[in-house]
Amino acid sequence: MLAFYPGFVRTFDDLPGRVSLLIHSWNGCNMRCFGCHNYDDLIAAKPDASRLTAEQAVERIRASAGLFDALLVSGGEFLVNRASDIVDFLRSVRGAFDGAVIVYTNGTYPGKLRMLLDRGLVDGVHIDMKLPYHLLDPGEDSDVYETIIGTVPSRRTRRDMLAAVEAVIRHNGETSQVRTVRYPQLSDEYFERIRAYVDELNAKHGSRVPYFLNPYYPPQAPRRHSQL
Ligand code: SF4
Repeated sequence: MLAFYPGFVRTFDDLPGRVSLLIHSWNGCNMRCFGCHNYDDLIAAKPDASRLTAEQAVERIRASAGLFDALLVSGGEFLVNRASDIVDFLRSVRGAFDGAVIVYTNGTYPGKLRMLLDRGLVDGVHIDMKLPYHLLDPGEDSDVYETIIGTVPSRRTRRDMLAAVEAVIRHNGETSQVRTVRYPQLSDEYFERIRAYVDELNAKHGSRVPYFLNPYYPPQAPRRHSQL
């Protein structure tokens, strides 16, 4: 069942040029990335009595809809949830709020992602490409995967992550982006390879999805948020 963390925050820097409301589903994640900011509150901790149901989250979005023009749905990993629960929630959000709806994902659920894009339930996707997956074999490069995403993907999951990045670029949403944290363990070459891969896919599909290489902030570093 979908659960949401009760702290909704307005942000001014997650989507350039827009005021966004950032909400977090509280249903865990299938990765454990180095320096994850959400690990203690949203992944290690199970939802407790303070959680919001999907209906309560939609009502809060409706009540404050004039205060932001984009909704960012983060996690954990929002797409770990059941497809039918995700669809019901996003349909209700469409009825409560007129602005852009953007989902954050680590890319491990390309089927759900394509379904949401095809049905127009989300306007954009911020997808992580944390490593140059196309160049790293889960067998030979397991240590790099383990260090950065805390797990070694199967070859199928690696294909899924690449398929999800391509789905986002093919869709070419105005608010979509591919992004990577500049993890301190990685040399610049890793990020250059990811950027080149995104450039190739944009050229292949005639798309203009930007690539962002974001600074690494240790988990205790404060971010510019205002609680709503
Ligand atoms: S995918 Fe995102 S939420 Fe999940 S562990 Fe990695 S940084 Fe944290």
